[in-house]
Amino acid sequence: MTAVTVVGAGFSGAVVARELAERGLDVRVIDRREHIGGNAHDRLDAHGVLVHPYGPHIFHTNSARIYDYLSRFTGWRPYEHRVLAAVDGMLVPLPINIDTVNRLYGLQLDERTIQGFFDSVREPRERILTSEDVVVDAVGRDLYRKFFQGYTRKQWGLDPSELAASVAARIPTRTNRDDRYFTDKFQAMPLEGYTRMFERMLDHPKIAIELGVDFFRERERLRHDHLVYTGPIDAFYGHRYGPLPYRSLRFEHEHHPGTERYQAVGTVNYPNEHAYTRITEFKHLTGQAHPGTSIVREYPIAEGDPYYPVPRPENELLFKRYEALALKERDVTFVGRLAQYRYYNMDQCVGAALKAAQYVLQKTGAAPDEADALAAGLR
Ligand SMILES: Cc1cc2nc3c(=O)[nH]c(=O)nc-3n(C[C@H](O)[C@H](O)[C@H](O)COP(=O)(O)OP(=O)(O)OC[C@H]3O[C@@H](n4cnc5c(N)ncnc54)[C@H](O)[C@@H]3O)c2cc1C
Repeated sequence: MTAVTVVGAGFSGAVVARELAERGLDVRVIDRREHIGGNAHDRLDAHGVLVHPYGPHIFHTNSARIYDYLSRFTGWRPYEHRVLAAVDGMLVPLPINIDTVNRLYGLQLDERTIQGFFDSVREPRERILTSEDVVVDAVGRDLYRKFFQGYTRKQWGLDPSELAASVAARIPTRTNRDDRYFTDKFQAMPLEGYTRMFERMLDHPKIAIELGVDFFRERERLRHDHLVYTGPIDAFYGHRYGPLPYRSLRFEHEHHPGTERYQAVGTVNYPNEHAYTRITEFKHLTGQAHPGTSIVREYPIAEGDPYYPVPRPENELLFKRYEALALKERDVTFVGRLAQYRYYNMDQCVGAALKAAQYVLQKTGAAPDEADALAAGLR
């Protein structure tokens, strides 16, 4: 019987584990943390409010396949995330839309005239290489300064001119009044939370879970035919080419007894004031009824748990060197945000994990027919 160890019980590890178990492989999932769910883990805080200890996680995807896949393990609560930014003493919608511009500049623009406004303030750039280029080219320097420059410096410890264009491209500019943060077709939160969904995903007779187990400490003990690794790829290779840069966060959780609502929307961003970037109030996300409320402030830091791969060309080149080693491994598959050094959202991790599972089945030759069937299902 083919045995597989999966390092990491987050989205990437849990999906691979389930897929392999359902095809008859013996799967052991280890995680150095004392809980499942990786960074998407949620739990009740000391006051009984459902919180996300590693920062707010909002599920959104355009993929019906991924939504349907997760629906096997959870029901959903429809939820469209909204974000306000504290700028010039006001709270205005983010991404920037018609109302953001009207309120900031005291204008009365509409869908016919907003693009004319952007055209009048934008500074067209011939080549879009950095995040600064993306924003200044679209909305000009003033909006860039108000919304992006300070926030990016806090979030990444870098000026937008030092970051890949892809970072700013994640936040569009709108020429309508849509104030939703995401526009994906499916936007919802797991009905009973992420951890409950992970419990169901990992609840399979062929899956054994070991928590509080660090792969590097217990490597010698672990026996398997194949390893699936979802931790940082540079750590797997002992940082032999040097560490890959990650950005980390310090979370400051706070409960407000007797306060039903702390703020008007799920998240308020602070691009220009405070050391923290944003405050999220969990009850907006979860819909939980509770006489008090719990919030989290996020303080970006350089050292700590690796949360965000830092998207810069030189980091991508360093990753490629590690990836070249990874591609030579016959008995190890690397998948996930840290192992692939990609700024993946949860849905993208699920997609990558479904592919990785198919790859493992082919590599191990454990179930070639099933692998073909799975591959067919993925097309
Ligand atoms: C603050 C924040 C907010 C986010 N918000 C959103 C959002 O709103 N929507 C969205 O779609 N995505 C969001 N994301 C991204 C989301 O968290 C990731 O896409 C997803 O959780 C990554 O899953 P993963 O399994 O690849 O990695 P992880 O969740 O990081 O899981 C990897 C696991 O491997 C374990 N591990 C690592 N090394 C070892 C080792 N040596 N031994 C044993 N175990 C090990 C870790 O403990 C961890 O549990 C957010 C991320 C952050 C940091």
